[in-house]
Amino acid sequence: MGLKAPIGSPSVRYLDRPASESFTMSYRFEFRPYQRRFRQPVRTHHGDWQVRQGLILKLTDDEGRSGFGEVAPLPWFGSETFEQALDFCQQLPQQLSDQAVPSLLPTLPACQFGLESVFSNLERNLRPIDLPNAQCGVLLPRGQQSLEQWSPYWKQGHRIFKCKIGVGQVADEMEWLDQLLGQLPFGAKLRLDANGGLNELAARQWLDWCDRNDQRIEFLEQPLPPRDFDTVMRLSYRYHTPIALDESIASWEQLKAHFHRGWDGIYIIKASIMGSPQRLRHFYHKYPIDLVISSVFETAVGHQALIQLAIDLAMTYPDIPHRALGLGTQQWFPDDGFSQTDWPLLWQRLA
Ligand SMILES: [Mg+2]
Repeated sequence: MGLKAPIGSPSVRYLDRPASESFTMSYRFEFRPYQRRFRQPVRTHHGDWQVRQGLILKLTDDEGRSGFGEVAPLPWFGSETFEQALDFCQQLPQQLSDQAVPSLLPTLPACQFGLESVFSNLERNLRPIDLPNAQCGVLLPRGQQSLEQWSPYWKQGHRIFKCKIGVGQVADEMEWLDQLLGQLPFGAKLRLDANGGLNELAARQWLDWCDRNDQRIEFLEQPLPPRDFDTVMRLSYRYHTPIALDESIASWEQLKAHFHRGWDGIYIIKASIMGSPQRLRHFYHKYPIDLVISSVFETAVGHQALIQLAIDLAMTYPDIPHRALGLGTQQWFPDDGFSQTDWPLLWQRLA
């Protein structure tokens, strides 16, 4: 049992079924686009993000059983655009066979993830899993709003809080985070994400600040732009606070390249835009890197695929500690029904 295509091959096998088995299943493939407006724009170094667009995929087998998957592109992280994903889905036949699944180009990683997930969701008969909040980091808004909003999350069991930095002046942001740390109970930890928005001097200032707040900062994420990898590598040796790469490793090729260049810090894995989850599982099995499975603001359908992936990875190495998932993003959307795990209902809503 296992992967049929060699790792790195653009063609994808979706099923853990021996190739010698001769019967072929036929599946009805459908997809529906969705749009979700954020409660407030997500403000990062990349700019303001107002509307999340993606596609929900549905696969139904001969016996009427259905599975769901999601395509959630993030073009400014190097994935295909929503339009390219839509175009691809429109060109897929309505009947898919597990013996003749489409060959996906590496330029469509979000589609690759979505299609592989929808097959796996159906074949493994996966049911929604409710992840304890303690295992899930939560993204706070910036500034004063974070001071007003962390407390309910703490009461709900969240212990990891993520904050975006690198948007304003270093001194202002440090003042804000000093205030936040002053309020947060011991046991809470911060993940700081600069989205590559710092220069080396600012990165050093932040790492000094993080080291001074030792034990309360889980890591600093992507302090410098991807082109400054050598500097990040040097900083990672010089400071105590762990550094995580995110933008640097947004694609499968980048992930592998940084691994082989010797990155031994943390890897933020935006699995929804990294192509085949099966390929990622095989990589992890061979190289158990220190990783955080992270959201790109998917609906509950995509979230469940990420939770399942995280569980699969954790079960590969049950004895090593696993970091909280970066999935606490649903509160950034209004109550639009996309965060609930009643997928047939969600599907109907999109009709
Ligand atoms: Mg990030």
